[in-house]
Amino acid sequence: MALCNLKSMLSKAQKEQYAVGNFDIFNIEMLKGVLDAAEETRSPVIIAYGEAFENLLPMESFARTVIDMAQRATVPVAVHLDHAVNFNLIVSAIHCGFTYVMIDDSDKPLEDNIEITQKVVEVCRALDVSVEAELGHVSGLGKLYQIDDHIYTDVQKAMYFVEQTQVDALAVSIGTVHGVPKEPPRLNLERLKEIHAAVSLPLVLHGGSGLSEQDFRNTIMNGICKVNIYTDLTLAAMGSIHNNAADTKLSYIKQCVMIAEAVKRETIRKMKLFGCCGKAD
Ligand SMILES: [Zn+2]
Repeated sequence: MALCNLKSMLSKAQKEQYAVGNFDIFNIEMLKGVLDAAEETRSPVIIAYGEAFENLLPMESFARTVIDMAQRATVPVAVHLDHAVNFNLIVSAIHCGFTYVMIDDSDKPLEDNIEITQKVVEVCRALDVSVEAELGHVSGLGKLYQIDDHIYTDVQKAMYFVEQTQVDALAVSIGTVHGVPKEPPRLNLERLKEIHAAVSLPLVLHGGSGLSEQDFRNTIMNGICKVNIYTDLTLAAMGSIHNNAADTKLSYIKQCVMIAEAVKRETIRKMKLFGCCGKAD
């Protein structure tokens, strides 16, 4: 069990119509909360790193710690580099032992996005590392891209992109945004259904914060096999900190344990919603 790439994980999810949770984390409390949740619910899980975390935790250190803990886990764990825009960073991630990377040039013209994705797939194939790419653009990473426009995934372009790149999973843009949306996202389920009918590979949902439980169920019924979660984990951690703010006798270590427990509860809630509990075995 333990460390694995994405392909086997998502092909089972696709066949049995559930989604695997992808949790972006940058510290031990978050890592412990997510892994404990996966063990307790017997869920496969994806632990992800983002370039924005570099100031808190260098990628090499993240990889050593997460890979070590993944190898000790009794459930399948994939270690993922989320939203990489830089080819050299992807090569470094592979060198560090990541089992799965996302190349995100979704803000670029189609042919440029295809070209860089092909290059990443070529390198990753040889090393048994899985690749995700994004088509259309899920907004909310404005700082990273200097744009904040939401661009829905086009069905014809999705077919062409998948055929040209042979990626393992495709992130689609169907109305969600990264972070906490100003108003509830309006999902374009029709578009998701059309993409699902047109391409056979597992689809990925980014920016799930603010979606209702029914929204999640609807997307998973229509081809979403992986859901990325970050903001809701940070909100759970912040909630724990705020709840304990008045307790001046609480030690720092106890505070950290309670944060890990809050992250674990939120992760289990998501895993139940995604239908992946018990799918590790
Ligand atoms: Zn994302």
